Amino acid sequence: MFNILGLLKFLFDWIFYKRCYFCGKSSPSGVICEACYKKIPINPPKYYKLFNNIEIFSISSYKDEIQKLIRGIKFHNQREFAPYAAQILFDFWKNTSYADKNFEIIPMPSHKKRVKERKYNHVELIASEFSKLTGYPVNTELVFKVKDTIPQYKLNKTQRLENLKGAFSVNKDKYTGANLLLLDDICTTGVTLQEMIKALNKAGIDKLCGLVLSNPE
Ligand SMILES: [Zn+2]
Repeated sequence: MFNILGLLKFLFDWIFYKRCYFCGKSSPSGVICEACYKKIPINPPKYYKLFNNIEIFSISSYKDEIQKLIRGIKFHNQREFAPYAAQILFDFWKNTSYADKNFEIIPMPSHKKRVKERKYNHVELIASEFSKLTGYPVNTELVFKVKDTIPQYKLNKTQRLENLKGAFSVNKDKYTGANLLLLDDICTTGVTLQEMIKALNKAGIDKLCGLVLSNPE
């Protein structure tokens, strides 16, 4: 027998069910379905780069779902992706040797001109979601990006170093004495994080480690 209620329910679900941004299938769990989440290749829980003995962890290669996720938050105003990015960070972080330590999160700052254009700093959005999972507070008043730099991918290695020179300023009064977890979306050559670390070291702050969502393949 033709079931009008069943048909209505089907239509209702079809129209209102959340869909996975990555595969398009209906996804009750939100913008990324379980299958797509599981497809993200996760790096082993050890550091990806060492700089001045500071460990920088990276979660995954910059491709497929993780690339789409980052590009969505960064360029396409998909702010609702931030909790998913934070969950991926957390699932990785809890397996590292640092998981039972306390940290304060320092999201990679953007120059105020960029924040004005984009309306938000995407790394700050991720940081505040990561904070909910870890209980670590976020500090956005310690490090500032004072130089409006050219996007790093447009430059060669020497230009990248020059571009980032003096880009960060540290407001030492806002240092609480905590271990700092520097958070960013991608670590390509590592120059950006290195410059931030240098600026912090110069201010006498050395209890640091880094965490990024992705690295080049
Ligand atoms: Zn999916």
